[in-house]
Amino acid sequence: MLATADALARLLDAARQVEGRERVGTLDALNRVLAADVTSPLDVPPMHTSSMDGYAVRAADLAGASEGAPVALSVSQRIPAGHAAAPLAAGTAARIFTGATVPAGADTVVMQEMAQVLDDGRVAFAQTPAEGEWITRQGADIERDSVILPAGTRLTPQALGLAASVGCAQLDVVRQVRVAIFFTGDELRMPGEPLEPGAIYNSNRFTLRALLAKLGCAVTDLGIVPDRLDATRETLRRAAIDHDLILTCGGVSVGEEDHVKPAVEAEGRISMWQIAMKPGKPLAFGAVRRGDEGSEAFFIGLPGNPVSSFCTFLLFVRPFLLRLAGVTNVTPRVYPMRADFSQKKGDRRNEFLRARLNESGGLDLFANQSSAVLTSTVWGDGLIDNPPNHAISAGEIVRFIPFSELI
Ligand code: AMP
Ligand code: MG
Repeated sequence: MLATADALARLLDAARQVEGRERVGTLDALNRVLAADVTSPLDVPPMHTSSMDGYAVRAADLAGASEGAPVALSVSQRIPAGHAAAPLAAGTAARIFTGATVPAGADTVVMQEMAQVLDDGRVAFAQTPAEGEWITRQGADIERDSVILPAGTRLTPQALGLAASVGCAQLDVVRQVRVAIFFTGDELRMPGEPLEPGAIYNSNRFTLRALLAKLGCAVTDLGIVPDRLDATRETLRRAAIDHDLILTCGGVSVGEEDHVKPAVEAEGRISMWQIAMKPGKPLAFGAVRRGDEGSEAFFIGLPGNPVSSFCTFLLFVRPFLLRLAGVTNVTPRVYPMRADFSQKKGDRRNEFLRARLNESGGLDLFANQSSAVLTSTVWGDGLIDNPPNHAISAGEIVRFIPFSELI
């Protein structure tokens, strides 16, 4: 059996970024991956701005101001945000608002709460301000010509905002990864259909489709394919034509009704990996020939058990797809967390236990860790990555991968 880390290394080693890029509007670029660095054509903010409502002054003009001896200045101009500012006349203050341009000659903003408007229209200051106070310097956030988002970045809402803050209306992104998915199992029915004896609902279709959508893939769902070799081969041929990855679910064990392995062998090549992980064990990886082109589509076959397919997707398919999409960093962050439970016997495989954060900052374990019990994945906040043969004692620090790192 292959260790989880070795299986992942093999998979990532085979992954190549898809060719092709496109320009998309920044508003439409969520979850896409940058094909080129984004460089800022300007300083942000583009000028010195006030971070308070108040008065722009020269700090030196207020030297010595105190409660006993306030200094009064006349107000020479009013600068709302979005308006140009004239240079500050010597010995005066400018009324200024948050986000407005600090006038040339001013070096400090005094917040309005620290200033008193006099009857004659002047403002009195009863304290000496610290020079530079309440001014956001030009370029404090971003300096002109700096790379703000490197190629290989997956665009989060924050990244879109950052790109927009330097005026990028469009972004160069890698084309979407195209994934064909199908499901095997004569027992599978769709919600809405009656469930005759022996049948179950195709829950994995919903989980896997949604996971693919969250990764920003273009998905073709080929539905449920009958448990027959000819039907499986024919579907694989069709799927290979214009997809980067063919993902299947179920039928990769070695039972008589498991036709995926022989079908992929006939249409391409396959390695069956017995991975030393729980849940999950069998994962099939290979490729399917694309007509007579000489090229091929990648193939990954997931186990049918709902928790197994969910976990193997998160741990293997997700980083593989991110690599195809050109993402540089595909490794989820692992958090050291306290186990508030004990598990006396360690499994000989690397376990991925569904666990939940409790209010005292530790982790609780879902009672039933069976790979058929999907409830655990909704109850849990993430997976404990428990090494082989390792019993867990209460209070111990374990490796926790929150679902937010994986979904
Ligand atoms: P298999 O990998 O085909 O041997 O399936 C393993 C188990 O997972 C069986 O109990 C199947 O009924 C179940 N299963 C397979 N595919 C799905 C699916 N798409 N949704 C829910 N359960 C499934
Ligand atoms: Mg099956």
